Amino acid sequence: MKLKLDLHEIYSDGRKIEEALQDIIEQAVTKRASEVEIIPGKGSGALKKSVLRFLDRPDIKAQYHRVDKDSDNWGRLFVYFRHESFESKKTISAVSQAASYTCFCCQAENRIACEISLLHEYGTETRLVECPSCGSPNLLTIRANRQNKVIVSAISGYK
Ligand SMILES: [Zn+2]
Repeated sequence: MKLKLDLHEIYSDGRKIEEALQDIIEQAVTKRASEVEIIPGKGSGALKKSVLRFLDRPDIKAQYHRVDKDSDNWGRLFVYFRHESFESKKTISAVSQAASYTCFCCQAENRIACEISLLHEYGTETRLVECPSCGSPNLLTIRANRQNKVIVSAISGYK
């Protein structure tokens, strides 16, 4: 199912826009829509920016999968959702596996938990973690091989 939100009518009312956005995201989640199309309206770059700012809020971001920008068609935005069923959540947690990495700084052996099925879906996962022994940031690259063994490499996470 796809939902559509046209902001033409309320483009000048920041509060209404936020309410409308909040509402459409909620609807998408409850109705399990796969996609929401947001139409800010022609020539309204500022409005598009505020929509993107809204979508970037951590509480909102947690609810959808990704955003696509359509550059040539009035700046429409597409928000895609992924709805996990209870079943698939169960499967994912069932294959959660513990793995370990060697801290790049103090060489301590630290354990982390990973979701094998997600590693297979996305290829690799990167994660910034703090070493429990020395406190240095470790940038981890996590992948799973064909035998479902998790392989983690750690490099310095200092910028
Ligand atoms: Zn360390």
